[in-house]
Amino acid sequence: MDESQHDLVVIGSGPGGYVAAIRAAQLGLDVACVEKEEALGGTCLRVGCIPSKALLEASQRYAEARKGWKRFGVTVQGVELDLAAMMKHKDRVVDANVKGVDHLFKKNKVRRYRGHGRLDGPGKVTVAGDDEALVKARHVLLATGSAVATLKGVELDGDRVATSTEALAYPEVPEHLVLIGAGVIGVELGSVWARLGAKVTVLEYLDRILPGIDGETARLAQRLLKKQGLDFHLGVRVTAAKVKGKKCVVEAEGRDPVECDRVLLCVGRKPYTEDLGLGSVGIAVDEQGRIPVDEHFATTAEGIYAIGDVIAGPMLAHKAEEEGVACVERLVTGYGHVNYDAIPNVVYTHPEIASLGRSEEELKEAGVDYRKGVFPFQANARARALAETDGQVKLLADARTDRLLGAHVIGPRAGDLIAELAVAVEFGASSEDVARCVHAHPTLAEAVKEAALAVDGRSIHI
Ligand code: FAD
Ligand code: NAD
Repeated sequence: MDESQHDLVVIGSGPGGYVAAIRAAQLGLDVACVEKEEALGGTCLRVGCIPSKALLEASQRYAEARKGWKRFGVTVQGVELDLAAMMKHKDRVVDANVKGVDHLFKKNKVRRYRGHGRLDGPGKVTVAGDDEALVKARHVLLATGSAVATLKGVELDGDRVATSTEALAYPEVPEHLVLIGAGVIGVELGSVWARLGAKVTVLEYLDRILPGIDGETARLAQRLLKKQGLDFHLGVRVTAAKVKGKKCVVEAEGRDPVECDRVLLCVGRKPYTEDLGLGSVGIAVDEQGRIPVDEHFATTAEGIYAIGDVIAGPMLAHKAEEEGVACVERLVTGYGHVNYDAIPNVVYTHPEIASLGRSEEELKEAGVDYRKGVFPFQANARARALAETDGQVKLLADARTDRLLGAHVIGPRAGDLIAELAVAVEFGASSEDVARCVHAHPTLAEAVKEAALAVDGRSIHI
């Protein structure tokens, strides 16, 4: 068995782990990274953010081409779907990203171990798999991510009653797809398959979609997604789903069973700590299976840290990345910090939904006195030129200090527009600060400026 000594060993090569490994190497540490899958990049690159966005882009092109661009004076004929080619596009995008991480590891001299990593007491990780090794290090970073949360009664068969991983690679467009859960995965992958022609039924336990997102914005999203064919049934508690002959059957409390071709279970994800050897260093997970850490990502075991989906907080790739950077920077420099008030959350539907900071519901519940500025894309010149006028920008600012507290955008390129607001919140900006900044004309970003003006009741274009 190979035995080696490093300054830092990272378990997991998702966006949390691989970014932390690279940053630590930049800071001069001798770094190793243990990954059990052949491909580097974790959930995000292999079966999450990247393949889902590749399919969202491709399916949107198809849906638009099918509808045609008559209003732009462009006539399209003979539009056909080649699903296999679309899947190839997705695979190429994934492959390029995965290879990119491989290249970055080599460039930064991060030593990669291929196999399952397991803590074996303080400062020791055993690797089992293609590489068999005992890796010793002063610091160990756990970045093992998350796995799909299951639901009692839902019998996953890895094919027709399955998870997002399978839904990223269906071999044909299902005639009828039932989604269990109207969270982020539900609306994103539901959009993909609805655009490609499937009848999509969404069964959601709560009385709303996209829990956690500002209520008004989520209601607007529901209306727009309904027009695109997502058939939402709210307040439905699914109790069972299984393959029955050539069909699948989904049962829910107080309703007739639904028959369909495929079922996608998307009721959340849970931290992944299987066979990680946490007991060998005395770490106990919390009631939700997460590894408890302090504000500097230190676990209860000396020299062992954890970041990303395996700890508390939103399960987002960029949150994992920022935590990884902050954690290793603190190890080397003594400083490192993540501002959890400035983490954008983007849902890549059409139009996109992007939010940051507090929702109106959260502000009301906390008794915070706030002012609200809203600007519809209907009144934005660039959105009209794009024929993408659905949606709005909503900004929430402290009524006394005018400091920005929340931003909720639904509309064209919302995921890019939110970046300006993340910078504003990071710098402690007021809505007046955003309103006073020059925004190029004609751009979608002018809707952000106008919403900032609207906080003070002085939008120009509405
Ligand atoms: P992960 O990416 O889960 O990586 C953990 C890695 O650790 C994995 O590669 C795993 O194989 C490895 N590992 C685990 N245990 C061991 C072990 N013992 N030994 C060796 N290796 C181990 N987030 C966004 O921000 N934007 C999006 O658009 C987005 N889209 C998503 C779409 C889907 C369908 C899904 C499922 C998720 C999406 N997410 C998105 C969430 C995002 O993927 C996660 O938040 C992110 O990947 C978490 O990063 P991580 O590094 O903590 O863990
Ligand atoms: P989610 O937490 O977003 O949504 C799960 C939904 O399932 C909730 O609305 C919940 O009320 C519902 N649900 C739970 N039990 C149910 C039941 N018995 N019957 C019907 N509905 C039920 O989870 P997800 O969509 O699986 O996504 C998992 C994670 O992946 C999320 O935390 C998200 O942050 C991340 N993700 C992010 C992106 C992105 O950033 N664009 C995309 C995909 C996934």
